[in-house]
Amino acid sequence: PLSERLDAIARYVPADGAVADIGADHAQLLISLARSGRLKRGIAGEVNLGPYHNARQRVAASRFENRIDVRRGDGLNILAPDEADVIVIAGMGGALIASILESGNNRLRGVQRLILQPNNGAERVRLWLAENGWELRDEELVRDGGILYEILVAEPGMPERPYEALPLTREKALQIGPVLWRKRHPFLKSRLEKELAGWERILQKLQSGRTREAEERRRRVTEEIGEWRRMI
Ligand code: SAM
Repeated sequence: PLSERLDAIARYVPADGAVADIGADHAQLLISLARSGRLKRGIAGEVNLGPYHNARQRVAASRFENRIDVRRGDGLNILAPDEADVIVIAGMGGALIASILESGNNRLRGVQRLILQPNNGAERVRLWLAENGWELRDEELVRDGGILYEILVAEPGMPERPYEALPLTREKALQIGPVLWRKRHPFLKSRLEKELAGWERILQKLQSGRTREAEERRRRVTEEIGEWRRMI
């Protein structure tokens, strides 16, 4: 069975598509989709040798070798034009996900949905999507093993000012997620509290500084804390 995190990702994969999982590692997601009869075709991409062999072995053992192709390569380079309907990139930092999308931008033509699960730095992914003609269709927070994971679902489209039509600064809307905010996601409060706790720890560490610079940093961190408090 899939973890809560991968299961939540799987629920966003439309049935009967050609699905590329970039950084597939164990290839569990594609194997599970194939098992439940929901996968027309799967492409597992891996840049690193260990995970690549891992994916190959798991796919071979699953008896879905005819349906799931395992390829070694960097990011979206493993895809031929118009090959995938859906692309999943999960379990990496947001900066890496954004850079994979940026350097593979020319492979995204024809792709109908991106399902992205950044482990951190989700604002980098949201910014890339907004600047490259991808509309956030849904966002989800899942709790798995005590950790909150963010899932972003995007489709081609250009919504008007998605980050400005909220009672948040654009910066905060990018960090928090406009859809999570609008749907008042039940886990959002814990997510914001975690952010606040992080800033409070930073302030603690800054307490001893006596220089003007330290004072200025304290002022900025205190401001940040105030902003997060107001949102909770
Ligand atoms: N996607 C799986 C999941 O969510 O459970 C595995 C996540 S694993 C933590 C991240 C994987 O991404 C690693 O196996 C790593 O080798 C792979 N990876 C990192 N950078 C990559 C890139 N540029 N192209 C393809 N795979 C990459």
